[in-house]
Amino acid sequence: MSLVAQDVGFQARGRYLLRGISLTLKPGEVLAVLGPNGAGKSTLLRVLAGEYRATTGSIRQNGQDISGMAALDLARSRAVMPQAASMTFPFAVRDVVALGRAPFRKVSTRQFDQKLVARAIKLADIEHLADRAYPALSGGEKQRVHLARALVQVWGMDGWERRATTVGAEKDKERFLLLDEPTAGLDVSHQHALLAVARREAHQNNVGVLMILHDFNQVTAYADRVIILQSGETVAQGAVDDVMRPDLLSTVFKSPIRAIPDPNGGSVLVSQAV
Ligand code: ADP
Ligand code: MG
Repeated sequence: MSLVAQDVGFQARGRYLLRGISLTLKPGEVLAVLGPNGAGKSTLLRVLAGEYRATTGSIRQNGQDISGMAALDLARSRAVMPQAASMTFPFAVRDVVALGRAPFRKVSTRQFDQKLVARAIKLADIEHLADRAYPALSGGEKQRVHLARALVQVWGMDGWERRATTVGAEKDKERFLLLDEPTAGLDVSHQHALLAVARREAHQNNVGVLMILHDFNQVTAYADRVIILQSGETVAQGAVDDVMRPDLLSTVFKSPIRAIPDPNGGSVLVSQAV
């Protein structure tokens, strides 16, 4: 079972922003979404998350059409890190992270929530900011707060010891993490830290991770599969090594891209100055 989009189209103001998109996001894998500005990447992520309703085709999560799922069930099964999340209310950072626990209010405890919030704050490297007011943070710091918020949501009831029936049903559920340009605005060490956290959620916690990225080498280093969008349609989709070819990338991005040998092994993709 997976998150499956089948022949999805999305129309807004009389124009198709997405057309004929089919993809499968499996638990345990990282799927990167790549494409020029305006290709429809964020729109696709929002349709997959159930925030926008597909105009045509269907989105199924674990076999169930998401258009028929209750908002709470959706919130318990997938977390979204949006592009440039804004929030002006002067919440403390810790409280913004704790918002990710809201869907579990009925099945969790304050103690358990606090444990997960503390763990996510540490992973996102925002311990020193935890008591600060969120609106006063830098762009990159805000991004890390939203990563932590998404993590505590996608963790669900993982690690919960007591086996109550409702809680038991929350465990072992398939979950998905959808990240829209999560590395935008982050310094290079925090970019790698975030990507490593996302990959670990996939490979060790069996989460299906989809992330929109712009850096070709981050795609090859951290993703298992990749889908390339252009003008709302799929240009290529498959294993990273099959899709990340300089000729294809040069065409899609209208800029010369070369693969050059990496002295440390393999090759790196570089874009040429114009
Ligand atoms: P990307 O994330 O790939 O840069 P988006 O998915 O944000 O692109 O947007 C794709 C295209 O759809 C853009 O041309 C954008 O201006 C347009 N668009 C996005 N949202 C809407 C909307 N709600 N109504 C009309 N057009 C939109
Ligand atoms: Mg976008």
